[in-house]
Amino acid sequence: MASVAGPEIERLIQLLARLPGLGPRSARRAALHLIKKRDALMTPLAGALQTAIERVQVCKVCSNIDTQSPCTICMDARRDPTTIVVVADVADLWALERANAAPGKYHVLGGTLSPLDGVGPGDLTIDALVARAHAPEVTEVILALNATVDGQTTAHYITDLLQEAHVKVTRLAHGVPVGGELDYLDEGTLSAAMRQRTLF
Ligand code: ZN
Repeated sequence: MASVAGPEIERLIQLLARLPGLGPRSARRAALHLIKKRDALMTPLAGALQTAIERVQVCKVCSNIDTQSPCTICMDARRDPTTIVVVADVADLWALERANAAPGKYHVLGGTLSPLDGVGPGDLTIDALVARAHAPEVTEVILALNATVDGQTTAHYITDLLQEAHVKVTRLAHGVPVGGELDYLDEGTLSAAMRQRTLF
């Protein structure tokens, strides 16, 4: 696409276009919006980015991101210390927090095992998870991983490693989504829901 602005503005557009969900066209619109809202938006955004660069770090316990390590969740005494909820990514942690669905503390793996993409156990924080699961206060590890081939491969791999940790290993149920209609579900989801039916 031909340049319509000077190199500094083009650079801003190119950087914005790398954000998830923004293509080149949306990036142009976002850049123009930022430029028009220079005082109300662009200056505070630049400040927030600079603060994030200086202060955001990875939690040394659970690999969550926060401005402190151990992170706010690891330091929260009201959270159940007997349960570790394992997620692939910080986005999944945020989703569970939005739903207020996780009872304990977290462990962020940093991805899932994926031989095709060259992601092996050494690329994830699996060793740290196994070490945490051996702590005397931990009684349950909940594998809150994606219901994809990679997610389930990772769940099986971790379950094998936790055999000697004397913890209950559970995973999220697969089945009918809240508000879901049976007629619209795929066969895999329907048969999983039938297999994992619960007492009414
Ligand atoms: Zn943490």
